[in-house]
Amino acid sequence: MDHPADAAAAPAATDFIREIIAEDLRTGKHGGRVHTRFPPEPNGYLHIGHAKSICLNFGVAAEFGGLCNLRYDDTNPTKEDVEYVESIEEDVRWLGFDWGDRKFYASDYFEQLYQYAEQLVRDGKAYVDSLTADEIRAHRGTLTEPGRNSPYRNRPGEDNLDLFRRMRAGEFPDGTHVLRAKIDMTSPNINMRDPTLYRIRHATHHRTGDAWCIYPTYDYAHPISDAVEGITHSLCTLEFEDHRPLYDWVIEHTRPPYRPQQIEFARLNLNYTVMSKRKLLQLVEQRLVGGWDDPRMPTLAGIRRRGFTPEAIRDFCARIGMAKKENVVDVALLEHTVREDLNRRTRRALAVLRPLKVVIENYPEGRDEHVGAINNPEDAAAGTRQLPFSRELFIERDDFMEQPPKKFFRLAPGAEVRLRYAYIIRCERVVKDAFGAVTELRCTYDPESLSGATADRRVKGTIHWVSAPHARDAEVRLYDRLFQSPDPGEGGRDPVTDLNPRSLERLTGCKIEPGLAEAAAGARFQFERLGYFCVDPDSRPGARVFNRTVTLKDTWARIASKQVQT
Ligand code: ATP
Ligand code: MG
Repeated sequence: MDHPADAAAAPAATDFIREIIAEDLRTGKHGGRVHTRFPPEPNGYLHIGHAKSICLNFGVAAEFGGLCNLRYDDTNPTKEDVEYVESIEEDVRWLGFDWGDRKFYASDYFEQLYQYAEQLVRDGKAYVDSLTADEIRAHRGTLTEPGRNSPYRNRPGEDNLDLFRRMRAGEFPDGTHVLRAKIDMTSPNINMRDPTLYRIRHATHHRTGDAWCIYPTYDYAHPISDAVEGITHSLCTLEFEDHRPLYDWVIEHTRPPYRPQQIEFARLNLNYTVMSKRKLLQLVEQRLVGGWDDPRMPTLAGIRRRGFTPEAIRDFCARIGMAKKENVVDVALLEHTVREDLNRRTRRALAVLRPLKVVIENYPEGRDEHVGAINNPEDAAAGTRQLPFSRELFIERDDFMEQPPKKFFRLAPGAEVRLRYAYIIRCERVVKDAFGAVTELRCTYDPESLSGATADRRVKGTIHWVSAPHARDAEVRLYDRLFQSPDPGEGGRDPVTDLNPRSLERLTGCKIEPGLAEAAAGARFQFERLGYFCVDPDSRPGARVFNRTVTLKDTWARIASKQVQT
């Protein structure tokens, strides 16, 4: 299943990027080639926003018969780590994409980048500035005021080259010099006011070790990395729109063998969700979540553990489309997409999260029978299974009320319900402990109501159950949104203050049908009436742990009819 060809088979929504590419192919702009790249910085785990970029870059390449590279944008040695590199590869593969033998690192190009920088210096297009970081900031000007030239801007070319080489040789401490492009300090675009190309940073890089003590900036390294790889369409998010003139400037003045083209699209924003790696790292480091793969996290590792499928994520990315303007997508749409996918594929099962014992007084003691249950009503090939039934059962505590309101169609003293796939029972008596808490229900059953004379008899409610002597214990983890505010961290406050204190509820002593006792980690089920669940890797033999992926209540289906998507 997880193969790029399948990924490409997702609904091929056409959008402005695909239109540009189709047009470029028609006019032969890039020699009839399409070559994209996905360029993560290995400073955190990938999140659902990255999935949009992955589906776009790999998807476009597959659709147009092109190629997509995986390239680590690893130009910042202090924040990057091999742990992240490994997680990124696992996540991209899991999503169903394959970079073949085209895995690259911006750090592979450090020497080339350096040589191009020397060329800029020789051409009088770059200079070494010796102002402090604060002074550089002060000279930069503002949106309304032009910047001022640095006193070092007109250093003789020879001195620049000498200083730049000595920067590389490690003669200067951090922060003493930078290499800057010589563009225009009065440009209305602040990115063009002599941007920094290289910084001194005496730090060990996760791949190049201590070979370098100067590191290129993103704005300088990215266009050249694209050019070196022969990227035709460099797709990035909107915040880089104002950097495009600089991207083009770098390409124009370094004159690499290839001229890629940058195109921007709107990043994915989801309400109730934080998507910046920096903020996600904060949650991990402050132990506010269990780790990068906590099932409440919007990381691909987290949602995989939660039970989302790669097909659902790809479908979601196709549905949200490509906008040119910032927007916020309702997280309910993501949940809806996941539900639709799981509805088609998951086996149904019976499980009781908060058990209440039921004894059927007129059911023969010691009798053991099986009732037939449908595995998946959406998939006839999934077949049926046999569920053990006996005199003692567990039902859900909240399927019983001693003093039910009107329209409570579940169990109450004197009331009848049907047990899913089995008999109709009536509650005769309530057993309580010394504190008045209900500990057990004494019921009777209608022996003809399964396949006998009253099999078609209708009662208002149907509830789920498991046979007490056959049931197995499990732990179930119920999740709610990690943040309780639609826009966590709105107005600059710490998003931590918006965390939902009830985002995780752990239930132990849950009862599951015996067939689930050995379900493998990652296996997914619909627990009837309760939602979709996935076996967590924390499971131990005989002690399964289930994560609730989503409930069955589809809020999107309700609001979708009222809301026009942009
Ligand atoms: P973050 O702000 O979450 O830390 P980033 O942009 O710094 O993300 P990168 O590793 O640089 O993270 O991103 C790799 C690629 O994924 C980039 O091309 C980036 O534009 C894209 N990307 C990141 N976040 C999103 C998003 N929310 N929606 C779409 N694309 C995204
Ligand atoms: Mg980035």
